[in-house]
Amino acid sequence: MSQEFYPFKEIEAKWHKKWEEMGLFRMDQDSSKPKYYCLMMFPYPSAALHVGHGRNYIIGDSVVRYKIIRGYNVLSPMGFDAFGLPAENAAIKNGIHPETSTLNNIKTMRRQFNSWGVGYDWTREVVSCLPEYYKWTQWIFLQLYKKGLAYKKKAYVNWCPSCQTVLANEQVLGGECERCSSQVTLRDLEQWFFKITEYSQRLLDDLELLKDWPERVKLMQKNWIGRSQGIEIDFKVKDSDIVLRCFTTRADTIYGVTYMVISNEHPAIQELIKDAPNKKEIEKFIDQTRKENAADRIKAEQDKKGVFTGRFVINPVNNKAVPLWVGNYVVTEYGTGAVMAVPAHDQRDFEFAKKYGLGIEVVIDNPKGHLDAAKMKEAYIKEGIMVNSGKFNGMPSQEAIEKIADYMEADKIGRREVHYKLRDWLISRQRYWGAPIPMIYCDKCGMQPVDEKSLPVLLPKKVKFKPTGESPLKNAPEFVNTKCPKCGGSARREIDTIDTFVDSSWYFLRYLSPKDDKRPFDKGLVDKWLPVDQYIGGVEHAILHLLYSRFIVKVLYDMGYIGFKEPFAKLFTQGMITKNGIKMSKSKGNVVSSDNLIEKYGADTVRLYTLFISPPEKDAEWSDRGVDGAWRFLNRVWRMIDSYVAAKFTLPSGRASSAATPIRYKTHFTIKKVTEDMEGTFHFNTAISSIMELVNEIYDFTNDERRAASDELKEAIQTVVILLAPFVPHIAEEMWEKLGNKESVFKAAWPAYDKDAMIRDTIELPVQINGKLRSKIEISSGAGEDEIKKIVSRNPVINKWIEGKLPKKIIIVKGKLVNLVI
Ligand SMILES: [Zn+2]
Ligand SMILES: [Zn+2]
Repeated sequence: MSQEFYPFKEIEAKWHKKWEEMGLFRMDQDSSKPKYYCLMMFPYPSAALHVGHGRNYIIGDSVVRYKIIRGYNVLSPMGFDAFGLPAENAAIKNGIHPETSTLNNIKTMRRQFNSWGVGYDWTREVVSCLPEYYKWTQWIFLQLYKKGLAYKKKAYVNWCPSCQTVLANEQVLGGECERCSSQVTLRDLEQWFFKITEYSQRLLDDLELLKDWPERVKLMQKNWIGRSQGIEIDFKVKDSDIVLRCFTTRADTIYGVTYMVISNEHPAIQELIKDAPNKKEIEKFIDQTRKENAADRIKAEQDKKGVFTGRFVINPVNNKAVPLWVGNYVVTEYGTGAVMAVPAHDQRDFEFAKKYGLGIEVVIDNPKGHLDAAKMKEAYIKEGIMVNSGKFNGMPSQEAIEKIADYMEADKIGRREVHYKLRDWLISRQRYWGAPIPMIYCDKCGMQPVDEKSLPVLLPKKVKFKPTGESPLKNAPEFVNTKCPKCGGSARREIDTIDTFVDSSWYFLRYLSPKDDKRPFDKGLVDKWLPVDQYIGGVEHAILHLLYSRFIVKVLYDMGYIGFKEPFAKLFTQGMITKNGIKMSKSKGNVVSSDNLIEKYGADTVRLYTLFISPPEKDAEWSDRGVDGAWRFLNRVWRMIDSYVAAKFTLPSGRASSAATPIRYKTHFTIKKVTEDMEGTFHFNTAISSIMELVNEIYDFTNDERRAASDELKEAIQTVVILLAPFVPHIAEEMWEKLGNKESVFKAAWPAYDKDAMIRDTIELPVQINGKLRSKIEISSGAGEDEIKKIVSRNPVINKWIEGKLPKKIIIVKGKLVNLVI
């Protein structure tokens, strides 16, 4: 007897329990099966997850389940990136300790993961805010310190006035705080940095090793590292011993320098202006422009401002003295803090020169029309022929770049150099909810690292969370006052905490031995299991977490702690789920609660819809009607299995006639299609769509009751259930059991397709909707119009386009093209 709706509540509860009992997601250390490490970026613990969050985990879970059926020894761990500002800000607002709210949120998230049927090896959970984890984050800090890769320096750093802490460059997006979107300002502070710049070239070169990373992520990293090859040139300041160093990739323009600009943070600036008659005016300018942020200042559209210092510098190639200015469009952060200005051939310099009446000298002529400096409307930045450039006149400018560099190196007035845009990683934060930096200050011995044996430096629980711009740890005397590890005298602890991006730069190593209290990770195990086979997460981490993790892994590799150079072999970045065209967020009021949907339809419906909604790497718009479609499909499959099980024992068994061939074809075609979609870039949507077509085919096939007990039908039915299992695991398990199987469907073998079953004379037919090509269908050659119409009207992809309505007209053009009018 078939029921009206399938009983998802009982089924889901039953299988959650069974998977737990059978240890489905527990990695087996001693297994001889091939290993597969599937890793989801570990989340920040937040209270209630919506369907947008769900997508990431459902994608990961489907991959994991697929690999389990394929016979891999799968490692699929989960943990929590549990330090960070939101919990601390909430504590300021409502007085609940960050640890309490964080651990509560973790509990809620575990429950939600389970409700989606998303499984992990929870015996390996890591939580970055617990001492047994952050002890080792502090250990990593000390290793970098030992290697000279962690250092403290005073510098102009990004300051978020709302978060009341400094930020790394990677956390500033278009001049705004990555977390809260406040305008970031600059502050001159003493801070801790990791010397990631020492790894610039290797981080760039090893992108080559990442064959299975999305190109756009690699490109973002490449641009962020920002390598440029050029020449460093020293300009003497007239009547002084000061030398100003410039870097340029355009040595061919050196004869066209008409002035020089330095940044307001240039270390020599005070010395340069100390006798200037307009010293007051210059200082006022410096003060004003320091308030502007660095990112804005270097934007092309930014208003360029400057002031003359009264000084001149000597161009070393022609000994011409040119005026020295301070300008807002030069930033010390990016380069040497001094720019040789060539207005004729650089647009920023051109605009500045026009504004302040500075000279413009053409040194590269346009071969298509002579340039006249007085008449130029914009800089000429293309290649051309050298003019006004001494012995280089008449040479093509491309060639002159090298020739002039040769000459400068020979005459010792310049050196070829490589510059990078990448800056050192600022890792100290003036906030409470993070791992304390394990350093101690002694008046006698100076700065001392904490002895590794006394780790962890515990974060004190009792502090006042008022944001003051200084770490709240400052006012916790029992934390601050300590003993010097060298002389034993009284000393003070560092009060800043470690950026949470350090916590997340190594967590994937900890999953292999999460309870080990002797070392951060087990070399034998991490060398066996890493690089991670499949990493899944958001593209917003392209230059943050994904760059930092690569850096830390290289450092650990260099120190001999691990035997691999890159952490993640394959990366998949999923798209976002939107509602009403925008990202789901509480403040926008467009959040779809996953708990409510699971209550109404069950987890499998939510999973199926989430995977079917679009290719997983693309953004997708949520539709409640789409959920209903997924629900109807699962019920349709459920009824199909029900009827099959019921009919199987009442009809005579035996092979069907040759009429069974199309069903075998469809079965094996579907196995091939789903397997390829799962092995490639996870085209869950097309995989599911082909399973839907197979279900249609089975319904057609069973219209003739005599076929109900055929082997072909049995094969088709079993195939549907196994192929669905990674996507909708609960209902698949239940149906598998109904079919008489004793073991979990995840212990079954993934079907292999039979090439012989797929020999069929077919043609592809393009399908247009209102004259636009939208899809293709496969039909057997010689299919009649009725059959074509039937296939078209059932194709789920086409159905999506016509949104379930019946097309007004179906026109079949000479059996070669279908056009639907809707
Ligand atoms: Zn902020
Ligand atoms: Zn001391």
